[in-house]
Amino acid sequence: MHTYKSDAVVIGGGLAGICAALELLDAGRSVTLLDRDSEDNFGGLAKESFGGIFVVGSREQKRAGFEDSPRRAYADWCAFAEFDADDHWPRRWAEAYTGRCHDEVYLWLKASGIDFFPVPHWVERGLHTPGNSVPRFHIVWGTGRELAVQLVKRLRNHPNAAKLTVHFGHRVEDFTRLMGEISGCCGSLEESGEPFEAFGEAILVAAGGINGSLERVRQHWHADWRTPPQTILNGSHRFADGTLHDAVGKAGGRITHLDRMWDYAAGVRHWQPRKPNHGLSLVPPRTALWVDWRGRRFMPPLVTGFDTRDLVTQVCATERQYSWQILNRKIALKELAVSGAEFNPSVRDKKKLAFLRDLLFGNRWLVDQLTTHCEDVVVAGTLPALVAKMNALQGDQGDAGVDLEVLAEALSKYDAQVARGPGRAEDEQLQRIAHLRQWKGDRIRTCKSQRILDDRALPLIAIREFIISRKSLGGIQTDLSSRVLDAAGNPIPRLYAAGEATGFGGGGSHGLRALEGTFLGCCVLTGRIAGQSIAGSSL
Ligand SMILES: Cc1cc2nc3c(=O)[nH]c(=O)nc-3n(C[C@H](O)[C@H](O)[C@H](O)COP(=O)(O)OP(=O)(O)OC[C@H]3O[C@@H](n4cnc5c(N)ncnc54)[C@H](O)[C@@H]3O)c2cc1C
Repeated sequence: MHTYKSDAVVIGGGLAGICAALELLDAGRSVTLLDRDSEDNFGGLAKESFGGIFVVGSREQKRAGFEDSPRRAYADWCAFAEFDADDHWPRRWAEAYTGRCHDEVYLWLKASGIDFFPVPHWVERGLHTPGNSVPRFHIVWGTGRELAVQLVKRLRNHPNAAKLTVHFGHRVEDFTRLMGEISGCCGSLEESGEPFEAFGEAILVAAGGINGSLERVRQHWHADWRTPPQTILNGSHRFADGTLHDAVGKAGGRITHLDRMWDYAAGVRHWQPRKPNHGLSLVPPRTALWVDWRGRRFMPPLVTGFDTRDLVTQVCATERQYSWQILNRKIALKELAVSGAEFNPSVRDKKKLAFLRDLLFGNRWLVDQLTTHCEDVVVAGTLPALVAKMNALQGDQGDAGVDLEVLAEALSKYDAQVARGPGRAEDEQLQRIAHLRQWKGDRIRTCKSQRILDDRALPLIAIREFIISRKSLGGIQTDLSSRVLDAAGNPIPRLYAAGEATGFGGGGSHGLRALEGTFLGCCVLTGRIAGQSIAGSSL
């Protein structure tokens, strides 16, 4: 039996756990940090992430001419979230985040050596419910990898680093108890299976969400999305399997809103998978035609940038619960993107010239990677050849799957609308694109008037897109001190939780929908608050 002892035990070396550990070291407390994963992956999902962070009232917003305020951000957040009447703690966390993110996330990260892009992105503007009324998605220069690397460096070089012990390959399974109270946690070593125990005055669960377990995702599938699709890709952490949610539940902690998830509609299979069903989440090209498995255009048309949850809902309402996007190489070069650090090397590696080249002339490397390696992408010089390949991929004979005539008609109608020129189209997709292009951050990444069946823009490309599981919007209920609450709303002595494990605060601070960038941001805030409140408690 391996035994560890310190003031606090942090379970999970993702962003939330790291931020909590930093606060604990700042306060001079000793910390044992336990993680199932290997040291290479210290930083958790943040290290793989794109690094977009929701900030209110930043210098970048002001420079772009946007006045923002916590009040305005909270109003947008609540409108998008559609909280339930009894969502007390989720609302309180939403209010705390919108009010505190400028100083306690943005300025704090800047002080840790993190820089942001000069132009914030304007995502999740809202469709049937209002969303972001101003751009708030601030991208870390260097992506989430830089975020993780800098914070791990800060942890390792901390003046109190001697008080920190980090153990990788440690799978925590449950809590230990002494005289009826939680006294630590226990589990087994990944490689040898040997048991361990870690004791502390406070135990923090920062082990991520449940969306890395497709069984759990299916089990908690939201009623709005019918039944779970036959194929769901995994875009979360391979260890985000809810083991600690179960342990917290067993210890009397309240787990809420597990059916609330932030999944995406445009997942494709990774060709070098690092986990079963490993998926990549595409930023779906706006100029592409989005159709179902029969080649029928979604109506009203699907366009990204307004309401991610609605895209998932619409795709899940179809018979096969996956979709296709039809585009050409020119559109792909300008608009195709993959979320995360892995497929954004110029930003990740801070190569300014390469970044500008991709922006101005298109990301040839990415398009070539996807068209060459991804099994869900087919390419052809003509529409009949493209449809034949789509049907071969679907396993349908002839036009039993994608109907060539139906798709050809939808494309020519759309192209005819494009040909009318900007501002004259009656097509809703083109009207929405025109609206998005008013913001320079979107203008530069969205085609102006690009037909799909355009001989000068060939070859044609079709991308089959599955639902991809990503973030847990529900989880362990916590109060504003990150203390875990029981069914009666009372804190469980010594037990704390932070990050995605808590549905990003309070068991569901996003309600039904997230304004984006709020995940990383809430991990920083909930982690820091957890560390501060543990340090401030009577250890
Ligand atoms: C590709 C991608 C792009 C993203 N882009 C963005 C973005 O631009 N903006 C944004 O806001 N969010 C983004 N996210 C989401 C964001 O990265 C995560 O929500 C966030 O990093 C979660 O942090 P966490 O610390 O709560 O959990 P995790 O990062 O999941 O860390 C949990 C840690 O706990 C460990 N663990 C799990 N179970 C156990 C156990 N039983 N015992 C011991 N250890 C355990 C894991 O190994 C892991 O290291 C993205 C995610 C991905 C995958």
